[in-house]
Amino acid sequence: MDKQQLGCSRPIPAKRYLVFFAFYTAEQIGTSKSSCPSRKMSLLSAVACLLPILTVTVCAPIPFEMVDMTYTFDENTLFWPEQKKFELAVKMNGTTKGGFWLQTEEYFSGIHVGTHMDAPCHFAKGRWTVDQIPLNHLVAPAAVVDITKKAELDRDALVEIEDLQNWEMITGHILNGTIIMIRSGWGRRWPNREAYTGTADQDPTKLHFPGMSKAAAQWLVDRRRIYGVGIDTLSVDNGVSQDFPTHRILLDKNIFGLENVANMEKLPIYGATIYAMPMKVGKASGAPTRIMATYPKHLPFYWGK
Ligand SMILES: [Zn+2]
Repeated sequence: MDKQQLGCSRPIPAKRYLVFFAFYTAEQIGTSKSSCPSRKMSLLSAVACLLPILTVTVCAPIPFEMVDMTYTFDENTLFWPEQKKFELAVKMNGTTKGGFWLQTEEYFSGIHVGTHMDAPCHFAKGRWTVDQIPLNHLVAPAAVVDITKKAELDRDALVEIEDLQNWEMITGHILNGTIIMIRSGWGRRWPNREAYTGTADQDPTKLHFPGMSKAAAQWLVDRRRIYGVGIDTLSVDNGVSQDFPTHRILLDKNIFGLENVANMEKLPIYGATIYAMPMKVGKASGAPTRIMATYPKHLPFYWGK
């Protein structure tokens, strides 16, 4: 997917501090009780020096990268074996009898198809349906947990507790308030069904792909407060799971899932903001979801991809 550059005029906290410091310095000079006859000149000089700083810090846009993390819904869209595949039927594509152009379609699809959200009620009775998830849970910092290396060796690999703790150690932040995004490297296999799911058959007992362990999910709900878990595979439980413990543990705490997330390799491990916007389908267990991420172009090296 293309990355674009966005100019944003929102000041970052560091710049606010700089502006505050500039004002504070000017005020100190201006209110000084010094009897020096050149005090007015000093004040003018200070203001003249600080003006360019103020102009740069207040007005300069902060360049952002933007990453589209959604696969296009079309005939290549992959899906859980028991779901109805995505289909688009053209209703009209041409010039009408009235002489104007009209294009319109109908689509047919299971809910848990392509890039989509698992609402908490998917595996936990009485928890939020997809339309009930608060907006402030859908826009949050991304914590990218990378298991690409172990997934190369084992296609049933799992995110374990130590992978979560390693993320905290490397970034110096705790996971609270984030959406955890699991990067397994599986995005390179999309949309090859056999490579991505482990089988060319529509057989859920033959699936093989990475996920998150039951122990890691339990550690998250016991020790941290997160909003969601996204992954670049078909499911947050790995492919061989038949009882979906990670789904059950996370969703029971109103933590949503994001599955078949695209372009995970384009995110820094820390510093991005996720925007996960599911179609607002009333009372549903999930929905197709447009996911995007933004992050400042200039990040410290240890936040790198
Ligand atoms: Zn799902």
